[in-house]
Amino acid sequence: MLIKNAQIDAQVLDIRLSDVIELVGQDLPIVGNEEVIDAQGADVIPGLHDHHIHFFASLAREYSVECGPPFVGDLSDLASCLRKPPSPNGWVRGFGYHESVAGDIDRHTIDLIINDRPVRIQHRSGKMWILNTYACELLQIDKHIQLEGVEKNKDGLPTGRLFRLDGWLREQVEEENRALIKPFSEKLLSMGITGFTDASYTNNFETLVFFEELWSSKEIAQRVTLMGDESLGSGFLKIMLDEDNLPELGELQRRTSDAHEQGRGVAFHCVTQVELLYALEALRDSPNRNLDRIEHASLVSPDYFEMMRDMEVLVVTQPGFIWSKGQQYLKDVDVRDQIDLYRYRSLLENNIPVIASSDSPYGPVSPWKIIGTAADRQTREGQVVGPEEAVSRNIAIEGYLTKPGHLREPKRSLNQGEPADLCVLKAGFSLEKDSLNNEDPVAHTFVNGELLYSSNSFKTS
Ligand SMILES: [Zn+2]
Repeated sequence: MLIKNAQIDAQVLDIRLSDVIELVGQDLPIVGNEEVIDAQGADVIPGLHDHHIHFFASLAREYSVECGPPFVGDLSDLASCLRKPPSPNGWVRGFGYHESVAGDIDRHTIDLIINDRPVRIQHRSGKMWILNTYACELLQIDKHIQLEGVEKNKDGLPTGRLFRLDGWLREQVEEENRALIKPFSEKLLSMGITGFTDASYTNNFETLVFFEELWSSKEIAQRVTLMGDESLGSGFLKIMLDEDNLPELGELQRRTSDAHEQGRGVAFHCVTQVELLYALEALRDSPNRNLDRIEHASLVSPDYFEMMRDMEVLVVTQPGFIWSKGQQYLKDVDVRDQIDLYRYRSLLENNIPVIASSDSPYGPVSPWKIIGTAADRQTREGQVVGPEEAVSRNIAIEGYLTKPGHLREPKRSLNQGEPADLCVLKAGFSLEKDSLNNEDPVAHTFVNGELLYSSNSFKTS
């Protein structure tokens, strides 16, 4: 494979690929019948790595519809949500239902909206699912009528309402859920994402084995890195800190130093200043600095800068929250503290390294939305939060270009011998200029030298 006319660091060059980058140079001749892609002078960059995402929760959210307030207020809202195109596995999966929408609904209520494909809706409490008749038949609910939690009407027939049967239901739809993995991985490819770090604290050795299986079967195209619990044995140890239920400090220090002894860094979930202080305290006596990350650092007062620098932590931030939740922050966070929200520039100026990531599904997954928001600090509604903390798009993309496990090293570049994970951007798109509200700038994505995504407008080339 040969990519012609690629803009790389302000030069127009050609790139020859196998599974690695074989050669980068000017006017490389076409050899034999090798495939050629003309980048037309557009930027070619290393594939993006999202350093904080929850993959399975993200795909569940991607292929689900919200069924409760504030987005859904009544039965007709519910109907129009459920009638959106079903997910690639044929199901309609709803979440967040609340009685204020249409009361105690059962399978007959949903049948009136949709009866030609399976529907399941989760109640906001998480304790109940409501199925339509199609779904009841598919899952053979009548054969499981004796199962505790399957609600029956006075004639002994299933109402479609299942109580506390979440685990059972998950087993029943395991295959259907698995069918969503590939489409979601493809969606990430379309954004130029060729790798990600799954940041779920529940990740363990089994998760690692499962992701390896998904990579071998090509259900997931991205290179996956995990953080998780002690059983994982490698990667970052993820520690959730909750201000209202903080672990004992000695215990936290022990977990931290055990991780360090194994050469593992610690990723502390810190959204409040108390959580941040606690994480920094846990690191105070650790001899093994320069390994650890603060996830989110949602609120950071300048009082902490010195300590963060001393503890040599790196911040993994999510500018996308400014876009998706910014309006709420402006309402909920004291005006004096708003400057502390999702800091970026001031951290860099204080020599605290920062990497931008998504935290999808809690924040938007698109790197382009995130990079754009790091630069303009705008909420979805167009208000600006902490403009002093804006960084250029070129700085914001850098985190996406660092290797997992080598976060403090310079960003990856398209050097000979590097794995051929890269993106060809669309001609005319420029990271520097204001074409940047364009959230769909990727023309082609390669992983391991394989062309795995091409934008529709480039399908013919
Ligand atoms: Zn997270």
